[in-house]
Amino acid sequence: MQFRDLNRQYNHIKSDIDKRIQTVIDSTTFIQGKEVKELEEKLADCVGVKHCVSCANGTDALQLALMAWGIGPGDAVFVPDFTFFSSGEVVSVVGATPIFVDVRKDTFNIDVNSLEYQIQKIKDTGELVPRVVIAVDLFGLPADYEAIKNICLKHELLLLEDGAQGFGGKIGEKRACSFGDISTTSFFPAKPLGCYGDGGAIFTDNDEWAALIRSYCVHGKGDNKYDNVRIGMNSRLDSIQAAVLNAKLPIFINEELDKAQEIANIYTAALADVVRTPVIAKNYYSSWAQYTIQLSDKKERDGLQVYLKEKGIPSMIYYQKPMHRQLAFSNYKYDDKGFTCSKKLADTVLSIPFHPYLTSDEIEYIVEEIKKFHES
Ligand SMILES: *Cc1c(COP(=O)(O)O)cnc(C)c1O
Repeated sequence: MQFRDLNRQYNHIKSDIDKRIQTVIDSTTFIQGKEVKELEEKLADCVGVKHCVSCANGTDALQLALMAWGIGPGDAVFVPDFTFFSSGEVVSVVGATPIFVDVRKDTFNIDVNSLEYQIQKIKDTGELVPRVVIAVDLFGLPADYEAIKNICLKHELLLLEDGAQGFGGKIGEKRACSFGDISTTSFFPAKPLGCYGDGGAIFTDNDEWAALIRSYCVHGKGDNKYDNVRIGMNSRLDSIQAAVLNAKLPIFINEELDKAQEIANIYTAALADVVRTPVIAKNYYSSWAQYTIQLSDKKERDGLQVYLKEKGIPSMIYYQKPMHRQLAFSNYKYDDKGFTCSKKLADTVLSIPFHPYLTSDEIEYIVEEIKKFHES
């Protein structure tokens, strides 16, 4: 059994993917070919924003957003303490300071009370200027955008939605990657919508930022790539990746999101009495990048992981370490106090196999083994 079986999806749409890849090879336009333009238009339309700019990966997408806003030394950027490293890494890359914020233990997403507290603390200390909140749609679930937007308005902060895992999710009818002033996603193979290599995209309604990002991602180009008006980077999506995504997008939207929801419902119905299962608020829809359960403590969690492995069931710990404890950030000298939930989650979470092509037999087997472990 695989944690996320990408072969089954490929077999389902093999002829379309193969044909589209061959078309790119025949055209020899490997970088920014017409597949890329087609994809950007479809993605913007799907998400319901004016501009989509594709780029090389989800980490660059976040960095490009910060560059477009001119974030740098002296700026404070608020980031959830429980997320993938990139969400905070990019802040340091542009020279700004990541300020970590505790998360909620029910949704895994940024805790707005902790956010208010950290913003006020930065304002009171007066050494850094609060500029941006990066909200992450962790495991596929959109963050609490209504409350987050109010806080951003009140403190005049920009909102960056890290939708690397959230693409496909919704609040009401509004799609993930439309909630930030700028929003980003990743097409890393294991993300909800993945390509066959690295890829990413940036979404915004703002014409000026979109134009700046188009320049930054191709060496700060002016009229063309040999007219350079600012220091940028080389971050483009290649045509073969766009071709793969063009083939996958329709089944992702029309089939896979519904199937993922069905599987999540089965897991939750079967496991809710045994372990802590994910909580999805009313009107929220997850893209189910992960199905993550919580055990009572580290010993039980690690024990379950070993037990499942013996039974041939892979599982993953997303994430082992809260951001403020990462060695790479040690120069900031974060206080380890606070962060009650992120520390607890790092010890108790376990993501179990999840993808839209899991069979009922596999689901049943996984559920039974988790129950057996719990009874033993
Ligand atoms: C995967 C991920 C990223 C980075 O995406 P890459 O395409 O791997 O660079 C950023 N943020 C979060 C929350 C992610 O899960």
